Amino acid sequence: MITSSRRVGEDVTDPLLARTATRLADRHHQHPDDAGRWAAGCTQAWPCPMSQWAVRAGAAARGPWHEAWTFRHDILAAGITVAG
Ligand SMILES: [Zn+2]
Repeated sequence: MITSSRRVGEDVTDPLLARTATRLADRHHQHPDDAGRWAAGCTQAWPCPMSQWAVRAGAAARGPWHEAWTFRHDILAAGITVAG
């Protein structure tokens, strides 16, 4: 089952990369009460590196296909699995 948070828009060039960005953003987001603290599930202060990967992945997923393709290599090299 695909939940609403996992849907991708028509502006997405690389749906798998967009879902990866959503997955990372769901797990690594700003603490709701204190911007200096980490949110549940993450042990690093905001903005943690994974949240920054999420932002970059979301942008790359909506860019030209060759930028999405290049970004896939970058994110895989960082040890992050590109998967929905
Ligand atoms: Zn994090």
